[in-house]
Amino acid sequence: MSEDNEPQPRRALVVMAHPDDIEFTCGGTVAQLADDGWEVTFCLVTSGDKGSKDESLAPSDLAALREAEQEAAAAELGVHRCIFLRWPDGFVEDGPELRGALVRVVREVRPELLITWDGYRGFNHRDHRTVGIAALDAVFPLSRNPHTYAEQVSGGLEPHRVNSVLLAGAREPDYWVDVSDQLERRVDSLFRHATQVQAMNREEMAKRMAERQRRAAAEGRVPWAESFRRLTFGGVSRPRRAAALAALKKEREQAEQEASEQDPVAQEAAS
Ligand SMILES: [Zn+2]
Repeated sequence: MSEDNEPQPRRALVVMAHPDDIEFTCGGTVAQLADDGWEVTFCLVTSGDKGSKDESLAPSDLAALREAEQEAAAAELGVHRCIFLRWPDGFVEDGPELRGALVRVVREVRPELLITWDGYRGFNHRDHRTVGIAALDAVFPLSRNPHTYAEQVSGGLEPHRVNSVLLAGAREPDYWVDVSDQLERRVDSLFRHATQVQAMNREEMAKRMAERQRRAAAEGRVPWAESFRRLTFGGVSRPRRAAALAALKKEREQAEQEASEQDPVAQEAAS
């Protein structure tokens, strides 16, 4: 909390394994948060140095290229800070070192919302699982406890409490963000990852993305959605549009319930 009572923007932190993970899973949500005035920071655990079939490309050169692509994609979504932890692609290991690095990022950025991979969704890229689980551990309880990574606290970083977490790529999502205003920006941000999307043209990409979002939307009954599993820890804060959509969904469910209560067949079955 600032001492001079200056209004502070709301802050979100997105922790993912590789450059392009964000744009593929939650780029629309990020763009919507940025439009709503949130300050969003990206943290990439690896710089994707193995993400190419081109054998002539040295991993360090690929990493540098992909960091530049990530920064360009972030700017497309309204995000101006990317933190690169530079773990080796494919070899992210959960342990005190990784968790400490993530706790440090959380304590520096001080977000109320964190978005990361759902590390519990079953088989997936090893780095996605590892990063999702470690980032969640960093949020709860590690970052908030002054006795964990106490050297960070004695070095001047304060413990920090994250209020809510959105897990991307969840097998059983329970939270949908309407990203219908953000489709074009999402596709543009993906195209900034030129080393990854070279085989696909923009139209094909837009079509594929629209199909994925249509499926997510059908589950969540909102028009164009990105889906998440949501966890809250104390104080609740939701992106504004998502709150409005949740209210709409509830209203519809109530209307359906009322309609079924007036249905004599349903009444008979209930009695
Ligand atoms: Zn990835």
